[in-house]
Amino acid sequence: MADKTSVDTSDKNARAEEVFPTLTADQISRIAVHGHARHVEQGEVLIEAGEETARLFVVTAGQIETSALSGTVRRIVAVIQPGMFTGEVTMLSGRRGLAQTTATEPSEVIEVDRGELLSLVQKDSELGDILMRAFILRRVMLIAGQFGDVVLVGSIHCAGTLRVKEFLTRNGHPYSYIDLDRDDGVQDLLDHFHVSAAHVPILICRGKVVLRDPTNEEIAACLGFNDAIDQTHIRDAVIVGAGPSGLAAAVYAASEGLDVLVLESNAPGGQAGSSSKIENYLGFPLGISGQELAARAYAQAQKFGAELMIAKGAKQLACERKPYAIALEDGVQVPARTIIIATGAEYRRLSLENLSQFEGAGVYYGATAMEAQLCGGEDVIVVGGGNAAGQAAVFLAQTSKRVHMLVRSKGLADSMSRYLIRRIEDNPGINLRSQSEITALEGSNHLERVSWRDNVTGEVETHNVRHLFVMAGAIPNTHWLDGCVALDAKGFIKTGPDLSTEDLAAARWPLARAPHLLETSLPGVFAVGDVRGGSLKRVASAVGEGSIAVAFVHQVLHE
Ligand SMILES: Cc1cc2nc3c(=O)[nH]c(=O)nc-3n(C[C@H](O)[C@H](O)[C@H](O)COP(=O)(O)OP(=O)(O)OC[C@H]3O[C@@H](n4cnc5c(N)ncnc54)[C@H](O)[C@@H]3O)c2cc1C
Repeated sequence: MADKTSVDTSDKNARAEEVFPTLTADQISRIAVHGHARHVEQGEVLIEAGEETARLFVVTAGQIETSALSGTVRRIVAVIQPGMFTGEVTMLSGRRGLAQTTATEPSEVIEVDRGELLSLVQKDSELGDILMRAFILRRVMLIAGQFGDVVLVGSIHCAGTLRVKEFLTRNGHPYSYIDLDRDDGVQDLLDHFHVSAAHVPILICRGKVVLRDPTNEEIAACLGFNDAIDQTHIRDAVIVGAGPSGLAAAVYAASEGLDVLVLESNAPGGQAGSSSKIENYLGFPLGISGQELAARAYAQAQKFGAELMIAKGAKQLACERKPYAIALEDGVQVPARTIIIATGAEYRRLSLENLSQFEGAGVYYGATAMEAQLCGGEDVIVVGGGNAAGQAAVFLAQTSKRVHMLVRSKGLADSMSRYLIRRIEDNPGINLRSQSEITALEGSNHLERVSWRDNVTGEVETHNVRHLFVMAGAIPNTHWLDGCVALDAKGFIKTGPDLSTEDLAAARWPLARAPHLLETSLPGVFAVGDVRGGSLKRVASAVGEGSIAVAFVHQVLHE
């Protein structure tokens, strides 16, 4: 039998070699043609933390070191020796770097700028794999080590704290978290920045700027998520929404040479990003969390050159002009030759007067490890009879005391996959209540009690439950389209053969040809995924539609 210690050590070595690989002389010479050789002095700072222009350094002699903030302390992240290179995922995204890079000896380096690096990654698949793998693993390491330029001070009882945590996590941005209720040293930190605990969540951004209960847009602006992106030039395709369908469209469009910009009002991943484990997506027999799937797709889209604007929602479509333009919340107009609408859907909110009081403070619309942590060992309620609700119930049953699953219909057979129904039926921790609905929520700062009615007997029960997961029916994100494209009776976008002669006449369809599959009543504007009328509401179909739409984008661009 193999000695466990030696196996562990060799595993660790193999991992270290993936995170900080040493390139061969041939690989270095292939990088060298994309950059220029430089001598650097001992102590010279090659990259400041937070610098806007991303650059990569390959060390050919000497030694350089990267360090980053962890909380308020600067720690060494890595020592880069001959044959090794600097950089992490910001090299792909163009966002501000997190680490400072300093020569600790007189050194010889090859400096490569981001544009050159992107073209190298796309053209040289061997080096592309080595660089991409190292960048992604280094970001994972920074997150695990809580390195980074963000300190979040919050409380688990505060809805804003959960929102900010989710936003940073789903954007793959590392942060240190200090809990007001648990950490003793927090007052010293707040005093240092002259803020009071009453303003939670407080985000200390890049070690300097203090944001009190910031919006996602303010966080994105402070961290410079979108700084490297030119919003004004006319793109071949603007994709609105970075859920599975939008990310798939971005990967296919960018890999086929189109100039692509993705606009996302929140963070990449969409509804799938709020799933703990997707088990029916092809190629992942053990399942994959929505967060991980989104992170991979995001990196893949960037590898091919797609750009993605975060926390920048489309507010209006200017459809009377050509090229079309999409107005953002801040008034900027983004011009586009073609548009792919991938804005998906959101869970219907329960019609209870005081619901918003508890959103994020006991009422949640996603069930990931983050929410599960908040309700470990307690009773929870899941509302909804679809796959998302079933998945959430099975997932939460692992850590909570008991899951009450409330559905309005007689059973689950019509709305849920058979494998999930079986797991729910076999799970003694899940109490399925059919033909039941929530009637009241009570609590002060946090949800404390929930009442529900059995619609057959009319009986109302009240339980001390502090966590309610709502996954009941979806409403499409189409409000911003404001009459530009034909919608069905439920507000989903009609496309291709679903558009009737009357729809096209009402929309004044100007072309001799009929709309392509997935094309809306506006030529060159496509709709994919959950936002499209008749779509299947699955990750695989959303991904499929996103990629199919790109084939038609090419045709429209050549018309
Ligand atoms: C908890 C949960 C679990 C699920 N589990 C599974 C599963 O196991 N298997 C499966 O096949 N399916 C599952 N689904 C369904 C699947 O996630 C969806 O079908 C899929 O995410 C749809 O992808 P989409 O890209 O069309 O839309 P969405 O995922 O809804 O993404 C739309 C994106 O558009 C953004 N957006 C909205 N409006 C705007 C705007 N105006 N401007 C810019 N951006 C905007 C949103 O922020 C969002 O990121 C699950 C869904 C949920 C909620």
